[in-house]
Amino acid sequence: MSNKYGICKNCIMDSSDSSIEFDENGQCIYCNNFYNTILPKWQSNLEDEKGLYKVIDQIKQEGKDKDFDCIIGLSGGLDSSYLTYIAKVKFNLRPLLFHVDAGWNTDKAVGNIEKLVDALGLDFYTEVINWEEMKDLQASFLKAQIPHQDIPQDTAFFSALYKFARKHRIKHVLTGGNYSTECIREPDEWGVCPGIDKTLILDIHSKYGTKPLKTFPIIDVFVSKVYYKYILGMQVFKPLDFIQYIKSDAEGELYKFCGWEKFKHKHHESRFTRFFEDYWLPKKFGFDKRRAHFSSLILTNQMTREDAMKRIEHPELDEHFIEQEFEYISHKLGLTSDELKIIFEGDNKSINDYKNKQFLVNLGSKFMQKFGLEKRLYK
Ligand SMILES: [Zn+2]
Repeated sequence: MSNKYGICKNCIMDSSDSSIEFDENGQCIYCNNFYNTILPKWQSNLEDEKGLYKVIDQIKQEGKDKDFDCIIGLSGGLDSSYLTYIAKVKFNLRPLLFHVDAGWNTDKAVGNIEKLVDALGLDFYTEVINWEEMKDLQASFLKAQIPHQDIPQDTAFFSALYKFARKHRIKHVLTGGNYSTECIREPDEWGVCPGIDKTLILDIHSKYGTKPLKTFPIIDVFVSKVYYKYILGMQVFKPLDFIQYIKSDAEGELYKFCGWEKFKHKHHESRFTRFFEDYWLPKKFGFDKRRAHFSSLILTNQMTREDAMKRIEHPELDEHFIEQEFEYISHKLGLTSDELKIIFEGDNKSINDYKNKQFLVNLGSKFMQKFGLEKRLYK
């Protein structure tokens, strides 16, 4: 592999992804995967209205004697908000709206949830994660020096929802996952994990944690993918891949419907994620997730490459704001800003410095890709 800088001629993914490859036209593997694998599947989804309504009818049928026919995890961000809106308004489903409060909601996210829930008149449930445990796990992850700083929040969101659905026998989970705004999935080294790796979480917590995790929900990837799916029969459906889902149109529609307010950038519904993705990860590790977010929008014709290049030249958050957030986040996590600064300046590590089962998880992802169950590129 060469150390020379390279950037795709079509999107803005670059060699900050250490295993990126370019073809003879200078187009990257993500673009080729989009045009060759995702786009044909996506187009056939969009043309298959019958197939879509068959799934919707089945969800209604199976839920007809129950209080709810499906569950939606609502964060207040665009994807889950728009999903909630169409589930009720377009498909006439009866979802239970489920929100996990892990302590980092922005005011805008909370406002959006309230507006949407009121306007739709749907049942809404909030699960509050034990803050002392959440804090301890997040501080442990920061001390572990790995790029994957959103594992504690992601684990809480996903696991709490699955546990709740299981307890209340809700079989259908609707998610806002979609090709339109996330057809390029950032590589694992940029701090994402395909599924929840309980081995990794517990190893990091055993090294740096100070309090036992008594109530913190952790459902391991193999439990959700095997036990929940095949034994309990839980089904995950992504309706946004079956309709014309255009980011700016969806924002406008939600605003008109209930005054829902758009965010400056993806994932800004969580104050921690905003800090992590737009400051910690690019500044400490050199990984800018906006490359994947904007490249997805370029591929789906919602942003020009030129605009993306311009926007990525500058950080998303200004210096003064970052200083305030640095202070806020360190105190909330029970650290002084100096302590957080020392962690920030410490040596970076990777998840391979800890026990994990990524080898097995990756094997699972490769299997899913081989059999066409996952179209996005996992690497
Ligand atoms: Zn590309």
